[in-house]
Amino acid sequence: MTNFQKERCWLKDSKIRLQDIYMARQRIHGRVNRTPLVKSDALSQLCGAEVLLKLEHQQRTGSFKLRGATNAIVKLSDEEREKGIVGASTGNHGRGLAYAAARAGARCVICMSRLVPENKVAAIRDLGAEVRIVGSSQDDAQEEVDRLVVERGMTMLPPFDHPDVIAGQGTLGLEILEDAPQVDTVLIPLSGGGLISGIALAMKSANPSIRVFGISMDRGAAMIASINAGKPVKVEEYPSLADSLGGGIGLENKYTFNMVRDLVDQCITVDEAQIAAAVRHAYWEEQQVIEGAGSVGIAALLSKKIHNPGRCIVLLSGSNIDMALHKRLIDGENVDLSST
Ligand SMILES: *Cc1c(COP(=O)(O)O)cnc(C)c1O
Repeated sequence: MTNFQKERCWLKDSKIRLQDIYMARQRIHGRVNRTPLVKSDALSQLCGAEVLLKLEHQQRTGSFKLRGATNAIVKLSDEEREKGIVGASTGNHGRGLAYAAARAGARCVICMSRLVPENKVAAIRDLGAEVRIVGSSQDDAQEEVDRLVVERGMTMLPPFDHPDVIAGQGTLGLEILEDAPQVDTVLIPLSGGGLISGIALAMKSANPSIRVFGISMDRGAAMIASINAGKPVKVEEYPSLADSLGGGIGLENKYTFNMVRDLVDQCITVDEAQIAAAVRHAYWEEQQVIEGAGSVGIAALLSKKIHNPGRCIVLLSGSNIDMALHKRLIDGENVDLSST
């Protein structure tokens, strides 16, 4: 099947529609920033094509996760808001939930694994949420969330596999289309796939020939392993400079596995050295502070993994990096997290 045919099949029985993304945009308007799209002279020259950066790392709370969280929380009933919101998070989702919940006057509990860096934990507490540290993986944290849902009647908002979250992240696709209608290729960081699912639905609805690429780190890329296996599978987790891309896709995945399989043209991986080089490039050439996960699109371009990019959008997805680690990276140190 061509991508176009794939797209037609998908849109017919999709549980999430383009309309949901437009409605999400109405809901989050004024609560979430519209982020700039700027040309990168350095990357354009390097690739011989026009490369534009979507500066979503400048979003409030430091990542796009605020879009999906805000869309989901604004939709809740008064009773659901009162009982509170609970989520498992590697950091940025927790920050988004905490911020969105505080603004909506909702109680918020965030569960996370002990692999999460301390700067992210502190940031969530500062936003007024209660933090619970449980286990050593995203799945362990998720078990605690499930318990709070059953025992306290709290509402769970997962980081990616939820229609309101996906629709919220999809608003990025609308903004990109408005600012660069002639886009050929978009490079989107990929972990659980909520971000790329929403964006791909928006972009492919507008023009199925726009190429949507997912970029993961080569350590523990759960979505890619799952696509290759034909069903959601578990992968081992490793420390990575792209810590926000850690975690599984959930063996009970309902939405993002199908959407990524059907809508994404290709998935590409980058290694730790390439991620480090991209964080460095963003700082010295683009004047941007981005975290490892936010840099993988730049990493894919710098390492020449995208052939004929055409007019190419690189989504910079987050800025929440430990600044001491960032300094080591931009000073040129070869940081190897697997040995720390
Ligand atoms: C969550 C996150 C991603 C990946 O998003 P998914 O929806 O899980 O694919 C990428 N970059 C940053 C900074 C993130 O916080």
